[in-house]
Amino acid sequence: MAWRCSGKTNKELIANMADANIIESERVTEAMAKVDRANYVRHTYTAYEDSPQGIGYSATISAPHMHAYACSQLLPYLRPGSRVLDVGSGSGYLTAVLYHLVSPGGTVVGIEHIPELVQWSEENLRKDGLGHALDEGRIVMVAGDGRKGYPSAGPYDAIHVGAAAPTLPSELVEQLASPGRMFIPVGTYSQHIQHIDKNDNGKTTQKSVMSVIVSLLVSATLRRKY
Ligand code: SAH
Repeated sequence: MAWRCSGKTNKELIANMADANIIESERVTEAMAKVDRANYVRHTYTAYEDSPQGIGYSATISAPHMHAYACSQLLPYLRPGSRVLDVGSGSGYLTAVLYHLVSPGGTVVGIEHIPELVQWSEENLRKDGLGHALDEGRIVMVAGDGRKGYPSAGPYDAIHVGAAAPTLPSELVEQLASPGRMFIPVGTYSQHIQHIDKNDNGKTTQKSVMSVIVSLLVSATLRRKY
């Protein structure tokens, strides 16, 4: 799947993914088309390949098909005005797509534990024309431990977690709105993407939707030793 949908331009990449039904929703197609992946990678010559790319500090920008999948899974909770938390925001790419999905009126907080990546992601967002969203506080990029979330801007209608947690972080569950959905890979050796759904009454249910191999959410001090 990775190479078949690659394109020579951002437009072509998104169109190829839509044609192959990797992006099934028009809203996701439109939002991804507004975000130029070349602004969020280190090597622009492979910006439009449907594959992950290293962004330094042992982190990667995920493959576009993974970003499309995450958005489609959270889509019922991504409405104009929604509040979203993007844990492990890395390059800022997905934060930007989520911002378009909740505009106008929505807010997206990206939390990333490598401060250098937080700074780079802000530069990327500005290059991509989203300086106004940063200045207005519609996109907030925070350096911190994403396992603890960011309670002051919650509760969140949708929480996306970009790296696996060995067990479900209770703080993130607490910061989920009623109703709300969290998309999170859980597990160490065997990892599964879970939907954590909180209903109107605050009751949570957990459903495994896909098995994956992704890096773990770690502490920044541990990661620097790698
Ligand atoms: N979604 C991003 C990055 C995905 S890679 C993108 O596509 O660009 C996962 C990210 O999680 C990495 O950037 C990594 O540094 C970050 N991460 C790992 N542990 C973390 C933690 N405890 N808190 C916040 N971010 C963390």
